[in-house]
Amino acid sequence: MTAIPKAEKKQELISIIVPCYNEEEVISETLKRLKIFCSELTELDVELIFVDDGSRDRTRELLRNYASEDTRIKVICFARNFGHQIAVTAGIDAAVGNAVVLIDADLQDPPEVVHEMIAKWKEGYDVVYGTRTERPGESAFKLATARGFYRLLNKLSDVPIPLDTGDFRLMSRAVVDTLRAMPERDRFVRGMVSWVGFKQVALPYKRAERFAGESKYPLRKMLRFATDGILSFSTKPLQLSVALGMASAALSLIGIAYALFLRIFTNTWVEGWTALMIAVLFIGGVQLVSIGILGEYVGRIYSEIKKRPLYVVQEYLGFSNEGPKMSR
Ligand code: UDP
Ligand code: MG
Repeated sequence: MTAIPKAEKKQELISIIVPCYNEEEVISETLKRLKIFCSELTELDVELIFVDDGSRDRTRELLRNYASEDTRIKVICFARNFGHQIAVTAGIDAAVGNAVVLIDADLQDPPEVVHEMIAKWKEGYDVVYGTRTERPGESAFKLATARGFYRLLNKLSDVPIPLDTGDFRLMSRAVVDTLRAMPERDRFVRGMVSWVGFKQVALPYKRAERFAGESKYPLRKMLRFATDGILSFSTKPLQLSVALGMASAALSLIGIAYALFLRIFTNTWVEGWTALMIAVLFIGGVQLVSIGILGEYVGRIYSEIKKRPLYVVQEYLGFSNEGPKMSR
């Protein structure tokens, strides 16, 4: 009896997502390192998805060349800059791998660490997130604010979000499919992945210095990112404004009692202007802060109900058909 030849077993696929915004100085080195990484992966196939987040330098041109030379490379070109978290989301929407890895373009997250992530995934973990043990080359300000932010976020958030952990991580298909089904506009990806659950594990790694170029997260973007993180994972700021209102009401009661006491039982009274100004300014401040907090949530509701697409793709390069479909 002749043996029926076995169909060759299809290898599992890993998708690596690299968001890029004005990264012309690092992108060729990043690709070089990623290719070395791919060549070391013998048991797995790899697709490299670069997301050009509306770069204004030569990033797109370079990516276009890479995609035409290598079939493993796919590029999603945004019509404008939509931000890091949205770029990552577009990559997740397009990825078809059994596992998906998010990695920065500036080589701060060493591709070699992904081998360890894959090993953990093979052990049965659904999310392997990189936790930074060291962050050389960052300013004292960035280190201190990042440290404070992750701790504050964890205190406020309803789901525990791991400390000192960025987006550098591996996720299984189950987690990716769940993420794709989450329709929200404010996408704080690292929080969303924690929210999903499944079996998650930390992988400590030493974060490298940026290979070249400047950080694409100026203070303005950092603040926006931090507010997004807190407001999309907690309603505690609203409780804070209630507490603030209560405290100011309690304080005013003390003031009222004091003023009445003086007026009724003594021959003096609280002088006018100073007391009035203090009261007016204090109440004004408390009210504006509370309205501001409320406004932040209302603004987010507004952008949710507009239901605009999360991002606009100008072109897909290297995809087999006209490109993947957006999941929401
Ligand atoms: N990035 C992006 N869109 C942006 C800002 C940043 O796609 O609007 C990408 C950037 O190219 C990099 C990653 O997000 O791959 C992290 O950015 P960066 O390294 O500048 O941030 P940092 O490490 O300084 O926090
Ligand atoms: Mg960086």
